[in-house]
Amino acid sequence: MCPKKRIVILGATGSVGSTVLSEIARYPDLFQVVGVSCYSAVDQLESIVHRFSPRAMAVVHRTVPVPFHFSGPLFRGIDGLTRLIDAVDFDVLVVALSGVNGLGATLRAMERNKDIILANKEILVIAGAMVMHLAQRKGVRVLPLDSEHNAIFQCTHGDHRFIRNLWLTASGGKLWHADRKTIDAATVEMVLQHPKWSMGKKITVDSSTMANKGLEIIEAMHFFSIGPERIKVVIHRDCIVHSLVEFCDGSFLAQLSPPSMKYATRHCLFFPERGDVEEPSLDLYELAALKFERPDGERFPCLRLAMEVARERQSKHIAFNGANEVAVELFLQKKIGFGAIPGLVESVLGKIESKDYGTLEEVLAVDQMVRTKAKQLAKRFYI
Ligand code: NDP
Ligand code: MG
Repeated sequence: MCPKKRIVILGATGSVGSTVLSEIARYPDLFQVVGVSCYSAVDQLESIVHRFSPRAMAVVHRTVPVPFHFSGPLFRGIDGLTRLIDAVDFDVLVVALSGVNGLGATLRAMERNKDIILANKEILVIAGAMVMHLAQRKGVRVLPLDSEHNAIFQCTHGDHRFIRNLWLTASGGKLWHADRKTIDAATVEMVLQHPKWSMGKKITVDSSTMANKGLEIIEAMHFFSIGPERIKVVIHRDCIVHSLVEFCDGSFLAQLSPPSMKYATRHCLFFPERGDVEEPSLDLYELAALKFERPDGERFPCLRLAMEVARERQSKHIAFNGANEVAVELFLQKKIGFGAIPGLVESVLGKIESKDYGTLEEVLAVDQMVRTKAKQLAKRFYI
């Protein structure tokens, strides 16, 4: 029998983390969870620890009490993520936390020659060249867990030679049919009801502004070594086709499955093989018609902004990501309106020079500077 694949999951308590854990639980003979992290959801971490018995864990929040007994090492703070990577023997790191805090730990795992399963798009948006270059240098795999990128990877198997265009599908989020006035006035409660996907709050808001698709364009540039002019966005409300590849001979390939992260998760966990599951198949007879529509950068300015930003250098990518994260957080706290999100992002972008960086420290410093600027501008003009 093959030894079990030993897995560390950063962001085990989140939406993606939970899907990964429930898929792992289906195959106890094949996979073993050896390390987990959360930000502050220690109650949820406790049930994960009881169910999966990891050897080490990290809680990024420095002071939240951990009210249960754990016999292995427990690390705290952002550094705790890197220390977790150093503390355990493992085969694959699943990066499923949100935000940019996982970048250092991801680079460290790659330095240790570990394969990566990457859901956390922010990492590629702010430091894609650094991550992919290190992957190449160390000969490790970075498998895309984000459903669109996973779909493309399933179509190309990593061979990028004959791609003419990539077509990223987008659900359009909660507000796709709304007019600009309704969009600007959308409430937190309204935006958080995604019609098809169940996800964390931040990405659900991004789905409605379409900033998520913008981030995914930059993510795709790095995953598939392709220029932004060859990455197209198509609205697909059904969320069955998870993206398409147009090849230079005119053929298109697509990947289809119901709208659940479990399919991309399975693909990544088992790659290069495939898991064998007994589940009802996608019912093609029930899929009346699959519809595709044009995106609309006027009603969804974050998408237009991201398309512009994708053509710029790294500092603008960092600024788009950081300013958007600050804006979404303020919206979720009900301090700014939904319509203020693109305006705030655009103001920050206007203040950042277009530049590339070579080190992790530089990237994180620019990210911090952007966030500070975004908070200052929000205070002055939006709150
Ligand atoms: P969630 O908000 O559901 O979960 C986030 C996870 O990260 C939790 O474990 C959380 O811990 C942890 N976390 C939150 N903030 C921090 C922080 N500052 N430092 C360290 N850890 C932190 O997010 P999702 O699962 O929805 O998304 C995770 C990532 O995957 C994002 O990058 C997202 O863009 C990407 N993604 C998500 C998809 C989805 O379907 N949800 C699809 C494709 C990509 P705690 O629970 O303690 O707060
Ligand atoms: Mg996606």
